[in-house]
Amino acid sequence: MNLTDYNEIRALLSRHGFRFSKSLGQNFLTAAWVPERIAEEAGLDGTVGALEIGPGIGCLTEQLSRRAGKVLSVELDKALQPILAETLTGCENVEVLFGDILKQDIPALVKECFPGLTPVVCANLPYNVTTPVLTALIESGCFKRITVMIQREVARRVCAGPGTADYGAFGLFVQWHCETEILFDVPPSCFVPQPKVTSSVIRLTKRDRPPCAVSDEALLFRVIRAAFNQRRKTLVNALSAGLGIGKDTLEEVLLCCGLDTRIRGEALDLAGFVGITDEIYRRNNADL
Ligand code: SAM
Repeated sequence: MNLTDYNEIRALLSRHGFRFSKSLGQNFLTAAWVPERIAEEAGLDGTVGALEIGPGIGCLTEQLSRRAGKVLSVELDKALQPILAETLTGCENVEVLFGDILKQDIPALVKECFPGLTPVVCANLPYNVTTPVLTALIESGCFKRITVMIQREVARRVCAGPGTADYGAFGLFVQWHCETEILFDVPPSCFVPQPKVTSSVIRLTKRDRPPCAVSDEALLFRVIRAAFNQRRKTLVNALSAGLGIGKDTLEEVLLCCGLDTRIRGEALDLAGFVGITDEIYRRNNADL
């Protein structure tokens, strides 16, 4: 059966009495080129174990099955169980786990399902949980590559550089751990039901080490979050409010880093945030 043909999908779903759930982000692909291209971009071969989040009726799963050594698909909606049992018949290397990806012990799953394989992620993500899912996948440290379709505006945030409206704390978190690329856009007309927004496929490639050395990684992300929590304010005001450090001290910190004391966080690159973090860290420890 053609899992991206609109009429075949409708017939399959009505035969099983399936109803789309908006809260589960259920927009299924109806254009064959999209799952094919996503799977192509994921860099799969027999040595790779692919984790898919949200197989839906299995159109991307089928493409992953053809290319990867093993596929593990985690799906929250149990109503899709009889449908996937039908559509994935013959995909011998696919295992489907019914559960919430946000409640899984990802390193344990990867260890159990992909012994001897290189773990990657490839998925059309449910858009309502994109940020927590990407955060959990990156923090697990398990995956060499993450190739996913997400909302275009989130894709732009993930990949944004300094001085742009999309630049923020989440993008900096992702870029600290991964190299980021936007690969291609997918219009709403490629889905049923059609979402209101355009989608983009991105690829995150795990870095061997962070782009620069920092004295205290947790402090770095406290600094970054504080800077963007109040992004219209100057960095001195935002950091003073977020970290409880006096403004005079923060002005000295910025001057030590060779920065203008009126600078805003959105103008700083990762290395700039690292410089400020190291200077705060140095002063904190000098006080001890
Ligand atoms: N892969 C299919 C496709 O491309 O046509 C479906 C993608 S659809 C955008 C997202 C899928 O994720 C749905 O099947 C939905 O039920 C599932 N889902 C939503 N939240 C989830 C969660 N927390 N854990 C696992 N799956 C989830």
